[in-house]
Amino acid sequence: MTPTHVHEPRAAGMHGGTRLQKVEVGERSLASYFNVVPIHILEALDREAERLRGARILHLNATPYGGGVSELLRSGVPLLADLGLDVDWHVITGDEPFFRVTKSIHNGLQGDPNSISAADRDAYLSTSARNAELLGDDYDFVVVHDPQPAAILPLHGKGNAKWVWRCHIETSVPNPDTWEFLRGFLSDYDAAVFTLREFVPPDLPIAKIAVIPPAIDPLSPKNLPLARITATQVLDWIGVRLDSPLVTQVSRFDPWKDPLGVIAAYRLAREEVPGLQLALVGSMALDDPEGWDLYRQIQQEAAGDDRIKLFTNLTGVGNIEVNAFQRLSSVVLQKSLREGFGLVVSESLWKGTPVVAGRAGGIPLQLADGTGGVLVDSTEATAAAMVELLGDPALADDLGRRGRARVHEHFLLPRLLLNELMLLNELSGQAAPHVLTDPVCGLVLDPDAHVPTLEFEGVRHAFCSDECRRRFLMRDLPVQTGGGGATADTIVDNS
Ligand code: UDP
Repeated sequence: MTPTHVHEPRAAGMHGGTRLQKVEVGERSLASYFNVVPIHILEALDREAERLRGARILHLNATPYGGGVSELLRSGVPLLADLGLDVDWHVITGDEPFFRVTKSIHNGLQGDPNSISAADRDAYLSTSARNAELLGDDYDFVVVHDPQPAAILPLHGKGNAKWVWRCHIETSVPNPDTWEFLRGFLSDYDAAVFTLREFVPPDLPIAKIAVIPPAIDPLSPKNLPLARITATQVLDWIGVRLDSPLVTQVSRFDPWKDPLGVIAAYRLAREEVPGLQLALVGSMALDDPEGWDLYRQIQQEAAGDDRIKLFTNLTGVGNIEVNAFQRLSSVVLQKSLREGFGLVVSESLWKGTPVVAGRAGGIPLQLADGTGGVLVDSTEATAAAMVELLGDPALADDLGRRGRARVHEHFLLPRLLLNELMLLNELSGQAAPHVLTDPVCGLVLDPDAHVPTLEFEGVRHAFCSDECRRRFLMRDLPVQTGGGGATADTIVDNS
């Protein structure tokens, strides 16, 4: 998840004088989720929170808005407070060179071959040291998100807290130099959390690893129920008429999301589906020159075709509009070539809309066992899947309905909070009550549901999907530890 950055040092401004900037999130009640989220998840969440009640938890990241991490914190932090935990969300601050370096680190962790210079390293360290001085000491747990604040632990010292590094990035094959630089700051962390088992980088110097896929907030403006008539009016107002089928991709303008490939696939599909419309909805950061370059390329590619519509957050397409696009499109595309998790997939499925998406990162887990849509590996396959779904509304409906059921069971926010609190309880040495989890992907399972199972060495394992069971059976699990092969737990000891 790539953040939009806050440039100006504002640490002393908003809150606490000499402390890091605190993000105010208001109050939210978990009770609102009672008829939305499976009850077994809410009950287990309550039990886990009870054992941590009063614990002081700090979430630390780089930005209060823009990008998936801040969305998750904005929704999750007030719910943790409602569960009786004493939670703060603070953001670090930095200047332009700092965030240029952290973007390079981010890219390097995703495999970009460009290394970071000695001057870059100095910029990263000096800003990290300044932020470390502003960090308070009053926490039982500090959860540090992504690379931007990662060096704060060694620069500040652990104190009495347990520290967790929550990596939201695809880090399976990092640039060796970049990874070597970052991993030097990680050895004192008590645990690391990755979105998928495949993302655990080589030689991670952290003893405990947890695999926790992210989730969407079903009650946020982007995902809340929106009457069809209202959604239609919203799209009408921005100039999208639903007089012919609409396909949409919602994502940052980033080469890995392959927006030009989306246009190529749309052009192929349009030969079979006359009148087909394509909406490309992308968020832009003012400080992201690469994004603007790609935006201009997309504009050129789309020029002359008034059935391709381009929208950005900067022209007023926000959460409600994204909600309407995901709800009213016949098919949502997410033609990622490389992906972290791909929250947009769950967002679309939650609205009952089938998805045609690249076989990358966390997308196959969301579409496991053919639920929710079609996984594709090429432009031609993307076009063919679109044409098939557009021509067979019953199939599209069925996929969308089953996709929504899978999101309901596995990808709503309280499940994510439950996984996280299970880890914190484990770190504080509290014996966990039994919560059933898939040993491959980490998802929490309903103990009363009929799910795929497998007896292995006297232990009965349960899985979220046949696909996870197959992977377990084939030992098709990327190495978690320093070369040992597959392990069967999603909170594993890496020491
Ligand atoms: N998003 C948005 N407006 C846009 C483009 C993206 O609100 O124009 C949101 C999208 O709905 C999702 C998030 O940004 O919630 C992107 O998360 P995802 O995991 O799909 O991709 P990332 O950008 O983190 O790689």
